[in-house]
Amino acid sequence: MKLISFRGDHVKGQFLGKTAGVQRRVNLDPGDLDHPLGDFWFTRRHADPAVEAAKRAFPKWRDLGERRRAGYLASFYRTVSSRREELARLITRQMGKPLWESESEVSRFLDRIQLTRTDAPKFLQAYTVKMEGALRGRCRYKPRGVMAVLGPFNFPAHLPGGQILPALLLGNTVVFKPSELTPLVGQFIAECWKAVGLPPGVFNLIQGDGTVGKEIILHPDVKGILFTGSRATGLAIQELLARQPEKLVALEMGGKNAAIVLADAPLDLAVRECLIGAFSMAGQRCNATSRILLHRKIAEPFLDRFCKGVDTIRVGYGLDENVFMGPLVSEAAMKRYLTRLQEASGEGVEMVRSPRPLWTSRKGFYVSPSVGLVRGPSRVFSSYIKGELFGPNVAVLLIDSLEEAIALNNATPYGLVVSIFTKDRRKFEKAFQGCENGLVHWNVSTIRSSARLPFGGVKGSGNDRPAGYFAPYFCTVPVASLEARGSAFSPKKLPGISL
Ligand code: NAD
Repeated sequence: MKLISFRGDHVKGQFLGKTAGVQRRVNLDPGDLDHPLGDFWFTRRHADPAVEAAKRAFPKWRDLGERRRAGYLASFYRTVSSRREELARLITRQMGKPLWESESEVSRFLDRIQLTRTDAPKFLQAYTVKMEGALRGRCRYKPRGVMAVLGPFNFPAHLPGGQILPALLLGNTVVFKPSELTPLVGQFIAECWKAVGLPPGVFNLIQGDGTVGKEIILHPDVKGILFTGSRATGLAIQELLARQPEKLVALEMGGKNAAIVLADAPLDLAVRECLIGAFSMAGQRCNATSRILLHRKIAEPFLDRFCKGVDTIRVGYGLDENVFMGPLVSEAAMKRYLTRLQEASGEGVEMVRSPRPLWTSRKGFYVSPSVGLVRGPSRVFSSYIKGELFGPNVAVLLIDSLEEAIALNNATPYGLVVSIFTKDRRKFEKAFQGCENGLVHWNVSTIRSSARLPFGGVKGSGNDRPAGYFAPYFCTVPVASLEARGSAFSPKKLPGISL
């Protein structure tokens, strides 16, 4: 397969190519290790120039006005659209998910561009209040300045897009660091912004791993950090910034999401939604279904159908036809999946379908989907239940009541999504109130979401700054003005002072 040439960081409107002192890495295709995509390299040295370029570009970009900035987003839409097949194939080759999943990511990315243009400004309605005499109060929203966007590997275009697009539209400039596992998707995005003719410095791309990310976020001229990734990294970021409380930090982190399947659930629908939720993208989604809280009364028919469904899953190379599940993203992810599930067996978890490495026609990080049945105290206290696994595994916990399900749902450090399967709306409403999650669905999988609704978790899944549709709030600062025209404002006399 064709090697893709790597162009290095993109600062002030130019790709910098290879410079001195870079670290080199091989850019692997996790589904086809015999055909790497090429080399990529990175250095911490470009972080400062990128932030400085973004800082210099900010005032003009801010003053350009929203209508003209929206025009750039419209051109970006056309550019990405004209290369959409290329982008989908690139995503698959970079991180392994099947082409149908990558195509769906690209569609969502394109929708996000349009939706940002039309809807983001609606959130930020300036308003005026009448005060004493001719005095007026006004609230308007201002961009923050330089925003650092740190992206994850699993939706390498769509998720950073949900932050870069509103940040730019609302007048900020951006330094984007994609995941070190998906540098070519980052490069693709930079190429599209370059093609649009954005003013130099408005959008900058810095490649690299966490060491580069750290350099960017600590820079004193970065005003906001928009992060999507694991809880461990989110915590590290918050610790790093403990002495810079003035920076806006939006953290979108992991999940240990549950599907609660009650005795009156529509069975076929629940089975299908749980299968898709647990195993699409090989479970590498923040909103994957990683626990099924299953009512004992229907455990047998549910598990029978569910396991039959698992046995039909076709694992293979993402660009091949008729593949449901691709490989895991990296060797480290594969090792973690197999080791942690071995440890789970040590914690008394019964593997109804066991995890194992798979050998397909191509060499890659392929594993089998797995299902664990968890009983007793392990349902709450095992590390298997407490931690995010980020692989194609789901834990099944039997329950006897909705109350028990709600308590178990809440017994993890995370709080991203929960889905309740029942025919009874009152039970859904009760779960809605009791479940500590940012998204609470009824009879649809945990992985479904709408671009027109907030997306973000509570507890260990986020810090209350839902991304996507709600991003305009954290991409701006609400600024208050008290306004008096000339001498129209005559303050009341105060005692004890002559003015
Ligand atoms: P990750 O935490 O390993 O990396 C995310 C980004 O942070 C990368 O760009 C990485 O280079 C950077 N980074 C790492 N260490 C850093 C540091 N010390 N300082 C600054 N930047 C640093 O996450 P990942 O493996 O790419 O993505 C998977 C994780 O993301 C999962 O936990 C998943 O649940 C989560 N996720 C959450 C959402 C959401 O919306 N809540 C969406 C997608 C993924």
